Amino acid sequence: MNRSSTKAQAGANLPALRHHNAALVLDLLRAAGAEGVSRLELAERTGLTPQAVSKITARLRAEGLAVGAGLRPSTGGKPRTVLRLVPDARFAVGLHLDRDGLTAVLVDLAGRPVAVSSAPLDFGAPADRVLADAADAVRDLRAAEPRRPVLGVGVAAPGPLDHRNGVLHRVTGFPQWDGYPLRDALAERTGLPVVVDKDTNAAALALALDDPGGDFAYLHLGTGLGAGLVLGGEVHRGARTGAGEFGHQTLQLDGPSCECGGRGCVEALCLAAEARGDRAEAARVLGMGAANLVGLLDIDRVVLGGRTVAADEDAYVRGVRAVIEERAARGGTGAGVSVTAARGGDRPVAEGAAQLVLAPVFGRVGGGL
Ligand SMILES: [Zn+2]
Repeated sequence: MNRSSTKAQAGANLPALRHHNAALVLDLLRAAGAEGVSRLELAERTGLTPQAVSKITARLRAEGLAVGAGLRPSTGGKPRTVLRLVPDARFAVGLHLDRDGLTAVLVDLAGRPVAVSSAPLDFGAPADRVLADAADAVRDLRAAEPRRPVLGVGVAAPGPLDHRNGVLHRVTGFPQWDGYPLRDALAERTGLPVVVDKDTNAAALALALDDPGGDFAYLHLGTGLGAGLVLGGEVHRGARTGAGEFGHQTLQLDGPSCECGGRGCVEALCLAAEARGDRAEAARVLGMGAANLVGLLDIDRVVLGGRTVAADEDAYVRGVRAVIEERAARGGTGAGVSVTAARGGDRPVAEGAAQLVLAPVFGRVGGGL
């Protein structure tokens, strides 16, 4: 049994059920897009009674979240009224705080970006300065689209961090952030609910929306290296929300020293090969780490992202695929595992950050307002 069905059953006798059922209906409306879906179909697919669906859809219409989308002929009976989601009824802001840049995006309920901005950022600057830049980016986006109601701000930041409490941990190379309450500090400055997650988890969440039930890893190689893991369609964060610290696995005992204090880490070996212009070796190192992950978790696919990958997608995809295929050919795990590059370079991170806010609206675990 997966976690969402456990959750649905656990909620069966709780007042939250109404909210949960509304989220199920909203999720179906979103999936149907402009074509819409009839109340009867909603009842069939959610398992709710037609009366319950009518109540929910009436409320969603009253809140401006759903609207009639005409009539659809049905076999035999009278034509059915079709409903659709109103994508611009609510919006969410996604922020990607990277080590040297800040990307902000305003997305609608369908996950479509309606405004994007990016600017340089010094993540090593005092926290107040970084917070001021982040709050300014949110304010400017909202000022550009003043009539758009914003549900909250999702922030994607370098890990490790505590997703549940929105507190950063010791980011490699930026120890001053250790223990910083980013979520609460930004909520105070923007006056909006804030949810914080790792950059890699945000991107993984965005990709998971198109892959219900999927098992995959998103490997992000930019100024650092990390992973977002999706198991059974849900972002896997682990007991302390620290899962996916992929970059600091030791690949080479007594190898070159890494900024984390260890030696021979995947990240150090990969970035060192990049720095000396040996991209094939960098891809091979990344492939070794990926193949270990495939062997450990038996996932279906590996998605590569981040700007270092975006600079030469073919080389990275080819290199990583070669290592995984070679291991599978020896009888190891990994036969048929697909290796692809995420579209849009870093864009899935900022858009995924907004999904941290939107996912719970559609009853999807993985967000967290
Ligand atoms: Zn390391």
